[in-house]
Amino acid sequence: MTAPQPISAPAPLKSLAGLSRGELGEALKTIGIEERAIKMRVEQVWHWIYHGGAKDFSEMRNIAKELREKLQQHFTLSRPEITTQQVSVDGTRKWLVALPADNIAQKSHLVECVYIPEEGRGTLCVSSQVGCTLNCSFCHTGTQRLVRNLTAQEIVAQLLIARDALDDWPSNDENRRVTNIVFMGMGEPLYNLDAVKTAIEVMSDGDGLSISRRRITVSTAGVVPKIAELGEETGAMLAISLHATTNPLRDKLVPLNKKYPIEELLEACRNYPGASNAKRITFEYVMLKDVNDTPADARRLVSLLKNIPAKINLIPFNPWPGAVYECSDWERIERFSEIVFDAGYASPVRTPRGRDILAACGQLKSETEKLGFRARQIDA
Ligand code: SAH
Repeated sequence: MTAPQPISAPAPLKSLAGLSRGELGEALKTIGIEERAIKMRVEQVWHWIYHGGAKDFSEMRNIAKELREKLQQHFTLSRPEITTQQVSVDGTRKWLVALPADNIAQKSHLVECVYIPEEGRGTLCVSSQVGCTLNCSFCHTGTQRLVRNLTAQEIVAQLLIARDALDDWPSNDENRRVTNIVFMGMGEPLYNLDAVKTAIEVMSDGDGLSISRRRITVSTAGVVPKIAELGEETGAMLAISLHATTNPLRDKLVPLNKKYPIEELLEACRNYPGASNAKRITFEYVMLKDVNDTPADARRLVSLLKNIPAKINLIPFNPWPGAVYECSDWERIERFSEIVFDAGYASPVRTPRGRDILAACGQLKSETEKLGFRARQIDA
């Protein structure tokens, strides 16, 4: 008698959508494409995926039918599943994206990705980690444990999903809707720098997604030892979540400050590769009522940033259930902004966008996986 065979589902086919050139080459080798043809095949498939937005190998008309069929047998071009899409009255869109969990016992992980349309451009805010380890006291994501880093493919997939939903293909369309990327979603991008670097490489490739590196901004809470590497290897724009002008206060708001205090952080900014008046570093400053919003804070901020090519984004605090902070009063924000403006900085107050759809922020997810998120108008 033969033993009963274990019932197992076939492994899902690997998606090529979101891979780097190197990863794509490796994948094509596994189905027996000869070494000398790999480069050409990568170019062809790459172009269809990232220029044309192909979702099916049958669209790849300059590839012979037999090869297209072989690709179809072994791979897909699928994107992670969107579990929810919300559209705000102001045009802001939020997608909740399901990523596979590490093991079968867990449900999928959810990350958010937000599209913010503005006059003449559209910014996509992407996540780099599920959850975050930093525990910034005003940030909802900080109250959640880190689940895992995103792969480069999962970061790129957020752009593919947005382009699909916005009908924003091909990549060289003159009226593209996604023109800018900001790494200001969930997670600390400099704690997942390898994946972030690869994702930027894919997103900025001129024969593909074609988002110029100068239109890609990486925001960090201040992982000082990784800042130079980010600049040297990606050419991306830098944003710093500063939020305080003294170390004792910043220690409370952004506990990473205890490791890398303000002076060290600003020194790394002064040395950021490529920073210039034409390529300024953005300093984000969240307005917290009676915490960091006095005129004295504004003056200290301005003097701290002396000799750094900077722009300042004042962000009204976005409250979440259980937060101990409130957003500063409007007069306070205006006064703060005036001082910053008088010191020579355009200091736009970033009016929160998509308030109506973010009102239920984090509540879309299962209780255990509640994760916070903010979407604002970003000056990148
Ligand atoms: N870890 C990175 C990127 C993610 S947070 C960083 O710290 O920069 C993106 C921005 O949103 C940061 O400036 C963060 O400080 C800000 N932020 C977090 N929670 C917020 C809230 N409740 N209201 C307004 N801005 C918030």
